Amino acid sequence: MIKQRARRAFSPTKIPGARWVINQYIGCQHACRYCYAKFMCKWYDYGRWGSWVVVRENMPELVKGRYVAGKVYMSSVSDPYQPIEKRLELTRRILENMSKRVKISILTKSDLVLRDLELFKRFRSIEVGLTVNGFEESVKNDLEPYSPSIGRRIEALKRLDESGVKNYAFISPIIPSLTDIEEIISDTRDFVTYYLFEFLNFRAAGAEFRRFLRDRYWEAYEVMSNRDRFERYARDTIETIKRSGVKIGGIYLHYPELTMLK
Ligand code: SF4
Repeated sequence: MIKQRARRAFSPTKIPGARWVINQYIGCQHACRYCYAKFMCKWYDYGRWGSWVVVRENMPELVKGRYVAGKVYMSSVSDPYQPIEKRLELTRRILENMSKRVKISILTKSDLVLRDLELFKRFRSIEVGLTVNGFEESVKNDLEPYSPSIGRRIEALKRLDESGVKNYAFISPIIPSLTDIEEIISDTRDFVTYYLFEFLNFRAAGAEFRRFLRDRYWEAYEVMSNRDRFERYARDTIETIKRSGVKIGGIYLHYPELTMLK
């Protein structure tokens, strides 16, 4: 753990739908192999992604008395409820100090988020998303070794809904032959407000992940690395999503030439 003092709490962002981002942690113990935030290792040279976390310990003071208009996204280069949060309660202290008029959107892979349910209810506008990608347990452990099981995340979505906190399911990353969209939707549609869908960002996942996919999941690699095959896969998947009738918040392709599919 590396301690750091941040200069400001809210940073402008181009993340779709958000105006600000808050990153109280940099680095993530969930250590997902495909993580797009790995690029942070260029600036924070502490070793392998997942093996270090920068803790910006003054963030709870920085948010005090501050109000920003527009949606604040938490977080873009870490998971606010990664394991270290259980001990440090940094995310919790930030939310306690933050103006409850701030419009906040939280995304996590962890059911630790349920610890702060009562706190969420104090915000005027809040939504809490859980990433669920429908990987089989062995694939999940291979791709996201230290994140909670998909079952626990689905349960967290259900609990959020039961508590009256607006939730969303972030179906990401969608990987050919590893992600079963229909199954995830059918397992969650009764208690999820809306869905975001994101296909694997093959480029941002990095060369090491691309080699890993080629060696371990050839079928997925073949589709992801071939534009025509990916286009067919994406068209079919988007069809399935639209047919499902769930509320769609966005579909992210990360294939610039194929944006016309959306
Ligand atoms: S949980 Fe998110 S931020 Fe953390 S390693 Fe996985 S993809 Fe990256």
